[in-house]
Amino acid sequence: MYDPERNDDIQMLFLLHSFASGDHAYAPLLCSKYGLNYVHACILVVHLKNKGLPMSAAKLFTPTNLLLASLPEKEYENILSLGKLVELSSGDILGQAGKNFHSIYFPVNCTISLISQLNGKTKMEIAIVGPEGMLGLNSLLDVKVSLLNSIVEVSGTALTIDNKVFHKVHSKSTALQKILKNYIFVRLYQFSQTATCNRFHVINARLARWILMAQDCAHFNEFYVTHECLANKLGVRRAGVTQAAGELQKKKLISYKKGHLRILDRKGLETITCGCYQLNKNIYKDIMKAQ
Ligand SMILES: [Zn+2]
Repeated sequence: MYDPERNDDIQMLFLLHSFASGDHAYAPLLCSKYGLNYVHACILVVHLKNKGLPMSAAKLFTPTNLLLASLPEKEYENILSLGKLVELSSGDILGQAGKNFHSIYFPVNCTISLISQLNGKTKMEIAIVGPEGMLGLNSLLDVKVSLLNSIVEVSGTALTIDNKVFHKVHSKSTALQKILKNYIFVRLYQFSQTATCNRFHVINARLARWILMAQDCAHFNEFYVTHECLANKLGVRRAGVTQAAGELQKKKLISYKKGHLRILDRKGLETITCGCYQLNKNIYKDIMKAQ
């Protein structure tokens, strides 16, 4: 049985087991909106569900995305009514470089990896899109083809809208145009920061940065990610990942076995990551809050 007085892993499993499939989208929303940690947000969801949600609270629990949540209420509700919530699984391919895309995605509690590929072989992750962003910015520039490969990294929910429908909504909404112009700037900044980071910063620091970013987006302490996948994300050989992950394990910052990566010491990871992690967070906060 779930015991609200306890806060350990077993209790967390009881808690998650009691969630219906759609509930998983609510806790990350509470984390990002109200600054709760993930466990406290889960407890609140279960508590409110057990008591029965009043109408005012039910609205808070509409699964959403931070960009959409910044819109005026009517425009926000309009987009929700035009799109649909879909469950995405790790490994789902949402876009391929050079090919037309037909849907826009606003992650609610999943993450999408944007991958650049050279000669069909060498791969590297350029950015992660989570609940703070959207997939399909090209649509705003009237470009119908994807620039990068887009692959779901952490399974979860996203709101998806047909590209043509979204284009019409965007052309009529000055609020949405402003939010997304700012977001394009943030994304460009992050692309350039990633390029600099990959050239000048050591693998250990970059691996710590990726782990922190993934946790920020998905709010989970644990990920399934293979050596090969991490090598592609960081643009290094598998041996480089093995060595970097080994060093993080020696410092007891993570455990990593057969693809199961668990964060043991988030503060420690923040200490060893490069400054790019905080720079990216700050630019999002500064630019998006300046609306
Ligand atoms: Zn860096």
